[in-house]
Amino acid sequence: MTQKIFWENPYLTQLKTSLAHVKGEDITVEETIFFAFSGGQESDDGTIGDRRVLQARIKGQEIIYTLEGGHGFRPGDQVSMRIDWKRRYRLMRLHFAAEIVLQLVYRKWDSIKKIGAHIASDKARIDFEWGENLSNMLPAIQQQALGVIGDDHEIISAFSNEEREERYWEIKGFARVPCGGTHLRRTGEIGGIELRRKNPGKGKERIEIYLSEDLI
Ligand SMILES: [Zn+2]
Repeated sequence: MTQKIFWENPYLTQLKTSLAHVKGEDITVEETIFFAFSGGQESDDGTIGDRRVLQARIKGQEIIYTLEGGHGFRPGDQVSMRIDWKRRYRLMRLHFAAEIVLQLVYRKWDSIKKIGAHIASDKARIDFEWGENLSNMLPAIQQQALGVIGDDHEIISAFSNEEREERYWEIKGFARVPCGGTHLRRTGEIGGIELRRKNPGKGKERIEIYLSEDLI
């Protein structure tokens, strides 16, 4: 099992570890800070042993990294792992902005159904199955989200079941939600956000979330 340090400390940008398995260009490591796509959050960018990681994917409780060709590594080799922190921090801020927006949407419309979500480093989106246009309510949701961000709440992240690697985040008095992503320590880190509505098809509504600093 890959030890997932990105849960214990999502702010770590470099780690020394050793290779567990090597099969062609695919490797696994004993410990990792390099997040692999899950729950809609994109994988990190970075290097392992100074080789670029082309792909990171989850297989059971392992993460398999595909390195650029000809690395020549063997099991047991010591390597340094580095992630693109600028990208990861943006992913973490947009991810948590989406978490807050989703909870506020559920509060407003308790029968609304989330059908998808994607967190990229330039924007996050949440898709809903919903027959009404969300435009009118979006400014209120945005204002409430900015309130939660401005209050700079502590975000608790922990295991609900360590053996099965099930995680949750919690803001006391706001919500407790199952999620295996990488979460900020405080809501204030998100900063300003802006919401936009898209209509990706009949009976579907999309909310896009942007960081305000990108829109100036
Ligand atoms: Zn999450």
